Amino acid sequence: AAKGGGRGQYRFYSNDLKDSAHQRRETEEDLRDALARGELELHYQPVVRTSDNIVTGFEALMRWNHPERGAISPGEFIPIAEESNLIVVLGEWAIRQACADAAQWPGDLRVAVNVSAHQFTTESLPTTITSALASSGLKPEQLELEITETVFMGDVEAVEQMFKRLKKIGVKLSLDDFGTGYSSLGYLRKAPFDKIKIDQSFVRGCTEKDNTNFAIITAIVSLATALKMETTAEGVEAMDELGLIRTLSATNVQGFIYSRAVPQAQVVEKLATGDLTYKPMGPAKHRADRR
Ligand code: C2E
Ligand code: MG
Ligand code: MG
Ligand code: MG
Repeated sequence: AAKGGGRGQYRFYSNDLKDSAHQRRETEEDLRDALARGELELHYQPVVRTSDNIVTGFEALMRWNHPERGAISPGEFIPIAEESNLIVVLGEWAIRQACADAAQWPGDLRVAVNVSAHQFTTESLPTTITSALASSGLKPEQLELEITETVFMGDVEAVEQMFKRLKKIGVKLSLDDFGTGYSSLGYLRKAPFDKIKIDQSFVRGCTEKDNTNFAIITAIVSLATALKMETTAEGVEAMDELGLIRTLSATNVQGFIYSRAVPQAQVVEKLATGDLTYKPMGPAKHRADRR
């Protein structure tokens, strides 16, 4: 029954129950054991340089293969992990696993790991990172941490301190889902990000005729460029969206147009060919590509 939705496709299991407190508690209990049972896995989605289609790195995205419920989307289990504090343990595992996996890739490709707001101000984060780097042999500048604007909703001074400690280690910091949170440009001064990731909601369906999204993306890219930050356009699915992102000179593109997130084995296999380019593919192809 777990395979009912097609190979690895995310079924939103029992939607009617999803919101019930009972269901949440059950998910939380299962999640507590998921790590030990080896049910969690990282998949990797390529981040492709806009100018030449060359992959610059991959974003690690967590996958949960539940024994009875099949694949559960991170959109469903990450919020539960955040509420229950489990996110710290899961997040530490993700950092260690991503560093170990990325160390197997050729060259200096980067790996980006999502770090929840709560995890970001956890005292042990720098130690987790230095130990993950040391045991994998990955260079600090190959590790990128993605955080969202929500971190600034908490203790801003603690966030600033953490930035300093992480910059000292030498890892890269990206601002994820930019433009969707409580955007205040003031924090760009306090928090020197290396990259801004433009949220999919601005990119999806963006056309030159859609003046609002077009204007917003133009403004984000020009702000980032002035601040010497890279930009990644997230969620690019269509050829015309890619064309527009190229026109607007965003540095990188991440989206189904190049690839979905795939298991480590597939990344290794692709990189072993020595071909570091990804070819954009039409929507019919990437829909059929689901796995
Ligand atoms: P995110 O960090 O913004 O990751 C990008 C999400 O957009 C991923 O969804 C990815 O599969 C999806 N995506 C990429 N390109 C396209 C596209 O062209 N079209 C569409 N429709 N979607 C695209 P995913 O893997 O379901 O992850 C959802 C969110 O869950 C992530 O958003 C992130 O906030 C969170 N997450 C995933 N893994 C982790 C993790 O290890 N730790 C933490 N704290 N959060 C994670
Ligand atoms: Mg992300
Ligand atoms: Mg994002
Ligand atoms: Mg997101």
